[in-house]
Amino acid sequence: MTCLFCNIISGDVPADIVYQDDRIIAFRDISPKAPNHVLIIPRKHIPTLNDAQAGDAELLGHILLTAATLAGQLGCKEQGYRVVMNCNAAAGQTVFHIHLHLLCGRTMHWPPG
Ligand code: 5GP
Ligand code: ZN
Repeated sequence: MTCLFCNIISGDVPADIVYQDDRIIAFRDISPKAPNHVLIIPRKHIPTLNDAQAGDAELLGHILLTAATLAGQLGCKEQGYRVVMNCNAAAGQTVFHIHLHLLCGRTMHWPPG
């Protein structure tokens, strides 16, 4: 089974990468829903949050803390930003390799659709 985000990690699919290290990679969403819309993903293929294990806790925390760091670099930290992880189809997940959406640069509304 091919995975789009694994193909971005391998470099087979190009992406506008804004951050990467040995565990995660962050790149701009191809269809941005805000002036800044970045996806932060683990290099490890985990299909959904339901598949994450206790041993992934540090990795998930690293993704979340990286979102805050990137929000700062994007100039959004004080104004505010949103992080979202959709899990499974009813929540809107379309790519089954977990990813944290980081959105900022506009006023967000609540509740989300
Ligand atoms: P989901 O709907 O699974 O929560 O989020 C998947 C996200 O991946 C969507 O926001 C979509 O725009 C983005 N996306 C889909 N295909 C590509 C691609 O080829 N490159 C990039 N950079 N983003 C993609
Ligand atoms: Zn994958």
